[in-house]
Amino acid sequence: MTRIDEIRERALKELQQHHVLMLNGHFDYGNGYHGGVYLNPHQLFRYPSTIWRFAQDLLDVLPGTILEATEVVAGPTTGGALLAHTMAGLLDSRRPITHARTLFAPFAVDASGALTLSRFYRQQIAGRTVLLVDDVRNTGQTLVRCAALVREADGTVIATAEICDRMEAVVEAGVPNVPLAEYKAPENFPAAVCPLCAAGIPINTF
Ligand SMILES: [Zn+2]
Repeated sequence: MTRIDEIRERALKELQQHHVLMLNGHFDYGNGYHGGVYLNPHQLFRYPSTIWRFAQDLLDVLPGTILEATEVVAGPTTGGALLAHTMAGLLDSRRPITHARTLFAPFAVDASGALTLSRFYRQQIAGRTVLLVDDVRNTGQTLVRCAALVREADGTVIATAEICDRMEAVVEAGVPNVPLAEYKAPENFPAAVCPLCAAGIPINTF
């Protein structure tokens, strides 16, 4: 097992210890479906030291060529932006003091729910190389939209990375994607035919 495999395996365990990834439960998702797994990215940010630790691990699994080429770390609000801010700072702590400092850029959400990049950050990104990060990758749609905004701002996306990949991506940003941990949840069930309900297992409250 390589050092990177060890980091990723340990991260998957730590995501469970920090109650980011809750397995073997019985959850009501509020949309008519029940299932045994709950992913709660808010737990990553409840204590800042938690996201610092996972951000270090994500930097450790990213290829050196990507880290060396990164000028901006950018992520979508809220979790991805907090992660991007942390990673940009940590990246500088690993570089010689003479190296140009790493920039950070957050994607915001407008009134219609669409991701946007402010004029200030579009200017920051223009002509630069960008590492896109998020706490969790679901369908991949968020990172694809962020990549499009970077390209519209004349930036170059070099990779995407996330703390937890749910392995359900249906779209890709056209660059390498590097997850820290990967977890594929088992199938969910309509509440009326939920086998966990049928087995009399109480629904988790949290
Ligand atoms: Zn149930």
